[in-house]
Parts: sequence; structure tokens; C-alpha cells
Amino acid sequence: MSIIVQKYGGTSVGSVERIQAVAERVSGYLDTGHQVVVVVSAMSGETNRLDTLGRSVSGRPPAREMDVLLSSGEQVTIALVAMALQERGYPAKSYLGTQVCIRTDGNFGRARIEDIDTEALRTDLAAGVTPVVAGFQGVDAVGNVTTLGRGGSDTTAVAIAAALGVYECQICTDVDGVYTADPRIVDDARRLDRITFEEMLELASLGSKVLHPRSVEFAGKYKVPLRVLSSFEEGPGTLITIEKDDMEQPIVSGIAYARDEAKITMSGVPDVPGIASKILGPVGRAPIEVDMIVQNTGADGLTDFTFTVKRSDYDRTLELLAPVRDAIGARSLSGDNRIAKVSVVGVGMRSHAGVATRMFDALAAENINILMISTSEIKISVVVAERYLELAVRCIHSEFDLGKEPLREVETA
Ligand code: ADP
Ligand code: ASP
Ligand code: MG
Repeated sequence: MSIIVQKYGGTSVGSVERIQAVAERVSGYLDTGHQVVVVVSAMSGETNRLDTLGRSVSGRPPAREMDVLLSSGEQVTIALVAMALQERGYPAKSYLGTQVCIRTDGNFGRARIEDIDTEALRTDLAAGVTPVVAGFQGVDAVGNVTTLGRGGSDTTAVAIAAALGVYECQICTDVDGVYTADPRIVDDARRLDRITFEEMLELASLGSKVLHPRSVEFAGKYKVPLRVLSSFEEGPGTLITIEKDDMEQPIVSGIAYARDEAKITMSGVPDVPGIASKILGPVGRAPIEVDMIVQNTGADGLTDFTFTVKRSDYDRTLELLAPVRDAIGARSLSGDNRIAKVSVVGVGMRSHAGVATRMFDALAAENINILMISTSEIKISVVVAERYLELAVRCIHSEFDLGKEPLREVETA
């Protein structure tokens, strides 16, 4: 008998009917002889509701308490799914992260899984009991509840799959696979049968919500067969693979976007050694994560220094840099928190030049101004005003014909 880990996201457990449907779907797998470990998220909207609740009580809510609060959404769904399974005659048992135990480091809000004790899960499976585990949460070395970052239930599932050595880890969600772009934005986005770990990791890290970046990292590292598929209908979904077969290697595989971005500019900075570290030092120590960085020097010898942070860190970053502006004698400190990042990803870019030019041309044709650019071997990202985000994603998608099946090279005798 083979073990499958199935993770159900917020929409998939968003109502009593949907919870019943999940139990029905799990029982179908149990009937075919699989052993299943179920991982669930909180009901859709619940984690946001809890977050707002915390922030309405405290302007700067303590991270430890926020994790206790945010993780409570999953406590509800594990119990309900376990009950729904039992109701159908399938023994099941709910588990909080701490009960499993899913050990993490102590970084509240973005904890990393260090170790998973599989004993209870294996004992249950051997006894014909289906464990239903709370995603997104863990426990640190001294017993504090931690959370893995928004969307982190995917990572819980893959980490459990890696620890158990399973047949497959299935991320069951409200789309039937990974698409060339978010199907909510691009009508003719196409489902991919397969995508490489490398590309999926880039897409996820650059904002594609369909998988939590750490889950892809784990799956690649521990060789966990990972599939994204619909919770609601049958279908093959998308398999995340080590290597795509050589037959299908499009230049661009997909487009990702991140809406929650902000940029900060320190301008008129004296161009002397150490400036970048004076500006970014306090930000990094906060700790606030910096993404893109651009620095250029004008003819007057003064430098403009621009970087991006998550929108939620915007106010804090400006606050931190006000004294730095005065200390280094910069002309001004300004920012914009209505920006978004759009990225194209594809391993085929390694061997094909000209992707950037096509992307920039497509944006220019729609009159979309590019505010910042960054590139790596297999991706190109641009920052644009948030109001152009959807248009930018759509025009780039059509520029690369991503809605159409890629041409396959046919071997001739
Ligand atoms: P869950 O609650 O099941 O974890 P998420 O909302 O986190 O679901 O992720 C699924 C959503 O990801 C989809 O509804 C879709 O809008 C979005 N998404 C973004 N990019 C993609 C993509 N490339 N392929 C599929 N879905 C995507
Ligand atoms: N409930 C958490 C969130 O909304 C974790 C998850 O859904 O994966 O971010
Ligand atoms: Mg998710």
C-alpha cells in the first residue's frame, strides 16, 4: 500500500459542504487501498480575519502572539475534516503541529521546519487511521507555537511527505494545476502538464500563490513527487518534475506577479564608499527583506539609491531611514507603495537571447512604464505601477503565445 499526502487549501475547506466533499474525496483514495495523510489550511478568509483582529488590538502586534492567533484557523478545520471522515465510517484523528510534532526554528511568522516526528503518523496509518494535520504551524524548541508564513500549509504537506517517503504529495486547490499565468487574470492561460522544480521555485518565489516557495524547495531537495490538482474535479493536474523531457522546452514557461510591493528611494546621496551599507544596514537588521536594488550616479556625482520591500514593511522602512537621510546628507527620501512586480520565467531563456527585449516591447506597446528591472539566468522581472499589473501580465502572456501549446520538435528519420 502506498502513502499519499493530500493538502487541501482554504477554499477547499471553506464551508461545511466543502469539508464533506473533502472527506468524500479522501475516502475515495482510502477505498482504492492508499493510506492518506491529510493536511489542511484554515477556511478561506479566516487567516486574514484573524490577522485583522490582531492588528486591531495592537498597532505592532507581538510576533509570538500573532502566531498563536493565526494558527488557530487550522485547529478548526482539522477537527471538522476528522469528524467528517469518522462520520463516513473512516477512522481519523486530528493533529496540531505541536502534537505531531513539527519542529521549527523560532522565527515567528516565517518559521522553517527543522524536523518532523513521524511516529504518531506511522502508528495511525498502520492502524488504519487517517491523520488530519494542521498546515502552516509548528512548534519551536521551547514549545512556542510558530507559523511558516502565509500559504505555508503547502510546505507542511511536502515536509510530511519528505519525512514519510511517500508515493506522491498532492496539493489540492481551487485550480486544476499550475498555469502559464494566474488563470484569474489571464483568460487563455494554459495548464501545464509538467513544470521543472527550478521553474516552479522561481514562479513561487516571484509571487505565484499556487505553491508556497518553501514547499517547492523541500520537494526538490528531498525528491518528493509533487502534483498540483483540483479539489473539486478529476484530472491529471500538474506534476513538478526534476527535468522536463527535451521535447518540450519553451523559452518562457510562465508569468508570475507580486502585488504587495513597495519601493523606497534615497536621492541626492553623496557618492562615497559605504553608502549602500549605511542605507541597507538598518533595514536588514530590522529585519526587513530587500528585494531589488538599483543605484545610479548622475553627472553631479550624486547617487540615487532605490530598492523594493514588501508593502507591509513600507512605513517601517521609511521610519528607519529618516534619520539615515539626515546623517548621510541625502537630498530626499521618498517612496511608492502602489507598485507591483511582473516576472517571466523559463529555463529556455538560458539558451535564447532576446526575451527581455520582447517583454519590454510588449509593455511599451501598451504604454506601460517600467520602473525597475532585474534579471537572472531564468527570469526577468519588472516593476510597474500597480494599476497596470493585469494589463502587463496579459500583454506579456500574449507576446510569448503562452496560451498555445508550444511547438514540439518532431524527429524525422
Ligand atoms: P489554496 O487556498 O488552495 O492554498 P491559493 O489561493 O493559495 O489556494 O492558490 C491557488 C490560487 O493561485 C489560484 O486560485 C490562482 O488564482 C492562483 N495562481 C497564481 N498563479 C497561478 C498559476 N500560475 N497557476 C495556477 N494558479 C495560480
Ligand atoms: N491559512 C494560512 C494562510 O492563509 C496557510 C495556508 O493557507 O496555507 O496563509
Ligand atoms: Mg495556498
